[in-house]
Amino acid sequence: MFRNFIFDWSGTLVDDLGPVLEATNAVLGRYGRAPLDREGFRRNFRLPYREFYAEMLPGVALAELEGHFRRAFAAATTPVTVLPHAREKLEWCAASGRRAFVLTSMDAAAFELQLDAFGWRHHFEATYAGVLDKRELIHWILATHRLAPQETAFIGDMTHDMETARHGGIAAIAVLTGYNHAEVLAAVHPDLTVADLGELVEWFDKQRAGIPPQAPPRVP
Ligand SMILES: [Mg+2]
Repeated sequence: MFRNFIFDWSGTLVDDLGPVLEATNAVLGRYGRAPLDREGFRRNFRLPYREFYAEMLPGVALAELEGHFRRAFAAATTPVTVLPHAREKLEWCAASGRRAFVLTSMDAAAFELQLDAFGWRHHFEATYAGVLDKRELIHWILATHRLAPQETAFIGDMTHDMETARHGGIAAIAVLTGYNHAEVLAAVHPDLTVADLGELVEWFDKQRAGIPPQAPPRVP
């Protein structure tokens, strides 16, 4: 049974794809590149984001791009919203005694603002933001908080999240509410793929009740 959940943030608990797309296109536009639409972004964006920008804007320093991105993100007009079922999933964790953490690549200052804006700080035992390559921190998090790998899952929306889970020797659970298209995620074979966090809670509740799960892993 999973007792510990490490959550990604963007695309897993909150929907910030709108402002991220606005900011990404602002950065691309500064260097004369055509904007991406939502589906183009979901098929092309990847973490660590330095790889994405190295491909899109070769030769431009990452620190320079990050500066442009931060300013454009702060000025973006599309709101960041809580994803459906996210609040209920966090409350389910608390009610069932599960431990919850965040591991995100998102800029740490922007993350802290969102964490407080949604009133979610109390849900997490610890949060780690601004982590460019999550694989570099996963072992440290497991060791620091004494999380048994067989009782721990990483829940995320991107292939990098699944690769981070594998690297840490923990379960890789994919949600289809975020930045990566379902086909992109399927290519890295998550242990479990769910449409959203509501479906994940149902899956765990059925497991606990001894009902055989209805075949997720699935990809629509
Ligand atoms: Mg994400």
